[in-house]
Amino acid sequence: CSSTTPITATLFPGDGIGPEIAESVKKVFTTAGVPIEWEEHYVGTEIDPRTQSFLTWESLESVRRNKVGLKGPMATPIGKGHRSLNLTLRKELNLYANVRPCYSLPGYKTRYDDVDLITIRENTEGEYSGLEHQVVRGVVESLKIITRQASLRVAEYAFLYAKTHGRERVSAIHKANIMQKTDGLFLKCCREVAEKYPEITYEEVVIDNCCMMLVKNPALFDVLVMPNLYGDIISDLCAGLVGGLGLTPSCNIGEDGVALAEAVHGSAPDIAGKNLANPTALLLSGVMMLRHLKLNEQAEQIHSAIINTIAEGKYRTADLGGSSTTTEFTKAICDHL
Ligand code: NAD
Repeated sequence: CSSTTPITATLFPGDGIGPEIAESVKKVFTTAGVPIEWEEHYVGTEIDPRTQSFLTWESLESVRRNKVGLKGPMATPIGKGHRSLNLTLRKELNLYANVRPCYSLPGYKTRYDDVDLITIRENTEGEYSGLEHQVVRGVVESLKIITRQASLRVAEYAFLYAKTHGRERVSAIHKANIMQKTDGLFLKCCREVAEKYPEITYEEVVIDNCCMMLVKNPALFDVLVMPNLYGDIISDLCAGLVGGLGLTPSCNIGEDGVALAEAVHGSAPDIAGKNLANPTALLLSGVMMLRHLKLNEQAEQIHSAIINTIAEGKYRTADLGGSSTTTEFTKAICDHL
């Protein structure tokens, strides 16, 4: 066990399969001797008037205080009068960029062997600004908001990420040929930032062409930066290139140094409570959190144990074609540590 003073991190186990895969993370982290103490917060059963959502004010305060956390999937409650949980987190904590690495896992065969992409999604505006209304009966309107401030912020993050992670190219994904004002502004901001990074190749790719290129040859891309809706779709497409949602992690970056790592997938109600979920995506999100905390040794140790367990092929969950339960797969990872 490490002798370092423990770091407190917020943990949202979330809904559905969330608590099962969060349990797996706790077990693996404890086995690896990671110096982290979890502050656990569950989604509330009633709307908290202070947040207008099922997320309590205290849980948001916990992330603000700790500046680091791990989040399981949260089911979107149906009904009116409250904000979506994920939207509340992004808005309240100002989580402006969502970083999703997507790479081929050695030992798990898919159509491609050489995927190594990073998608960086603007997380606060675009079509997801939550501004929808009915104009007259039978006609509704949704506002797509693009601001210079948010576009520059995410572009800066993408280029800095590329530079600090030894990446060579940033592609801005857009539809500015049709959405000339909104996507046009997004591109203008990307170009401005690109000028400050002459060592990084910058290109612009129209989203429909990008989809075609990604499924034909994902190695054509390196770091992709894009507005909110495109990022939501493209990052799931990328997850499909390497084996599906059970494998892909992400991390949300906030303005005042907050990092909230989360699995890309949802609460998987079809398999919840059955000990069938693949905890890899949340575990790899935990690894991203450890790297953010500069706990690189433990991050690499856990990462290798996950990769080796999957590559060995003896213990795999059903989504990867195996028959192991969540607990059996987790135990196999712990045995590799
Ligand atoms: P989902 O990602 O929960 O499930 C899609 C399919 O993938 C299902 O067949 C599921 O069994 C499978 N799957 C997902 N994660 C898996 C894992 N770790 N291991 C094995 N199989 C896995 O998507 P959905 O069904 O569209 O959404 C369910 C709920 O989750 C909804 O309420 C949705 O709003 C919410 N959601 C939350 C987040 C989040 O919190 N970030 C993201 C997406 C969806």
